[in-house]
Amino acid sequence: MTSLFDPLTAGALHLANRIAMAPLTRNRAPGAVPNALMAEYYTQRASAGLIVTEATAISPQGQGYADVPGLYSTEQLDGWRRVTDSVHKAGGRIVVQLWHVGRISHVDLQPDHGAPVAPSAIKAKAQTVLIRNGQAQRVDTSEPRALDAAELPGIVRDYQRAARNAIACGFDGVEIHGANGYLLDQFLKTGANQRDDDYGGSVKNRARLMLEVVRAIADEIGGDRTAIRLSPVTPANDIVDEHPQQTFDYLLHQLAPLGLAYIHIIVGATGGPREVEGRPFDYEALRQIYRKGGGTGAWMVNNGFREKADAEDALAKGADIVAFGRPYIANPDLVARMRQDAPLNKLDRDTLYGGGAKGYTDYPTL
Ligand code: NAD
Repeated sequence: MTSLFDPLTAGALHLANRIAMAPLTRNRAPGAVPNALMAEYYTQRASAGLIVTEATAISPQGQGYADVPGLYSTEQLDGWRRVTDSVHKAGGRIVVQLWHVGRISHVDLQPDHGAPVAPSAIKAKAQTVLIRNGQAQRVDTSEPRALDAAELPGIVRDYQRAARNAIACGFDGVEIHGANGYLLDQFLKTGANQRDDDYGGSVKNRARLMLEVVRAIADEIGGDRTAIRLSPVTPANDIVDEHPQQTFDYLLHQLAPLGLAYIHIIVGATGGPREVEGRPFDYEALRQIYRKGGGTGAWMVNNGFREKADAEDALAKGADIVAFGRPYIANPDLVARMRQDAPLNKLDRDTLYGGGAKGYTDYPTL
């Protein structure tokens, strides 16, 4: 039986074990620049088989929350270089999650206070957070504008440049954020996409932008350093698809031949239950479609895993890697704790987002 502690090769990534640190937004990068505290936080967690960084904006237009990092300026790249160097020195592997939020943003976070961009001008019933007078403030997302088809090649280039930047500053690869109701998921799903051009309507058209992005990045840095995160049925950020099984079956069939390092699936509602009422989904069928299409990437699953037995059950059912989110926030030495069946530290919810070292780098190790 496969154990969580068995090593694994996922594309060009050689992982010491099958325990991944899931991407976790922590809002501790003022000015969107990664800092020394972030380097310390990730380095503390370097015994993970793979660290996936918090979602990181590919461009100023891709920004949607206060104090999240970017990957487009020299200062940001210098900051990330210090993170990757330090994680590598500690023996870890780290990929960066590439993010464009699309409509989940606010004019105050956009270049020239413009409207956030989206497949269609449909406002999400969702909130984001701004810092006003030093205080975090929850606000409704702004009314977006529909992207002109002529703007899409520029967005694909932004993703491609971010992937090039990622490799230049020492990341082992990239994970494309295709989940949780952000730009690529907005194009993919019927609830946010009412376009009548080549990027809307049929599943083939709705998947087009996501696939263009994946191919552009794979061309740039190699498919074996490229991964994607997907959330077929999550309601996060007011997203829904009429026929998720059909949509994702098509998508995975298209992704299969691209030689990706791994596919990262959020099972169910992000941060919530793995079964979503009214949104049934057959994940095993999806994995089979990927494998039958020749997909060789590792299959990573995420959402609500906490117990070792639960994660090993997922491996027994065909997953290759399990990504842990909340347990990784509170347990920098999660691998050692799982190995020893030691108790886990409790998560402090009040220090999840924003702030400094408290609730970030001060969780105790064994
Ligand atoms: P929440 O409403 O408490 O927070 C949502 C977001 O607001 C946070 O991720 C954070 O970016 C921001 N935020 C909150 N407090 C902040 C503060 N004090 N300073 C700066 N920023 C702050 O929601 P939640 O329950 O944590 O998340 C809702 C769902 O959305 C979850 O399923 C979560 O996983 C998902 N989510 C995903 C991403 C992502 O994929 N990158 C980002 C944010 C939320």
